[in-house]
Amino acid sequence: MESICKNEELLKYFFIAVKYIIPAILIVIGFIKLVMVTNTKKAIKRFLIFGIIGLIICLLGFYSEKQIKNKCETYNKVEEPIEEPLPEPTPEPTEPSVKEENKIETINGITYVDGIMIVNKTYALPTEYRPSNSGDYNFCTTCLTEETLNAFNQMQADAQALGLNLYISSGFRSYSYQENLYNNYVLQDGKEEADTYSARPGHSEHQTGLAFDLNTIDDSFAYTEEGKWVKDNCYKYGLILRYPKGKEDKTGYQYESWHLRYVGNELAQKLYNDGEWITLEENFNLTSVYE
Ligand SMILES: [Zn+2]
Repeated sequence: MESICKNEELLKYFFIAVKYIIPAILIVIGFIKLVMVTNTKKAIKRFLIFGIIGLIICLLGFYSEKQIKNKCETYNKVEEPIEEPLPEPTPEPTEPSVKEENKIETINGITYVDGIMIVNKTYALPTEYRPSNSGDYNFCTTCLTEETLNAFNQMQADAQALGLNLYISSGFRSYSYQENLYNNYVLQDGKEEADTYSARPGHSEHQTGLAFDLNTIDDSFAYTEEGKWVKDNCYKYGLILRYPKGKEDKTGYQYESWHLRYVGNELAQKLYNDGEWITLEENFNLTSVYE
């Protein structure tokens, strides 16, 4: 069957001969006999016989051609997938492995991985996005999501029991607030420098209502009793150190001992990693770079 199907050209000429040429020759012979022979009755009989045989061969030609074509088609179909599916699975590994392990999705312009909202230099929030309880505020320390505020309150209470004083210095910041803040930093230090410590509008976690800054909002916080305690205990409340030390190339930001982000207990415990903080970017295999 393989050799027959592969000779398409030969098959075409064979069936032209069977369908048209042979029946035509038979009919012509029959016609010649009809004209040449004197016995008309016999001649008509022969002409009819030749004609009918010609017609039968013609019909058989059409029928067998259709059969062979069908067989060749199914034969080719069976043969094709053997060659094609092999190269197809190979393009997948070239895509980020994020898709295989973690479900990344965009809902109303907001990026989530495994249900965790992602905001960094790569992933931005829509201009108008704000947590539901933030009203018309542009800056509000308590305008955080319910889970985030509860986590902070619990952490604050436990810290207080140890004689530590924790307070939120910066919570929710709107897009326009961040825009002013960032533009001022750019005027002060230049864009390149500003990008290392201040988020461009839409790229700040403070717009999510899931992040806040503690106490002094500067490097001195890391050396205070509060800063040391927070570093090793915040995960118990579902909070993470979002920009850990030595992970600047992953998060895109300098170490911020004061900036916490709520992710829930399970993920926070995993990212704490016995004090060797794993970033959201590492965990979900994400980038944090401006376009
Ligand atoms: Zn912050």
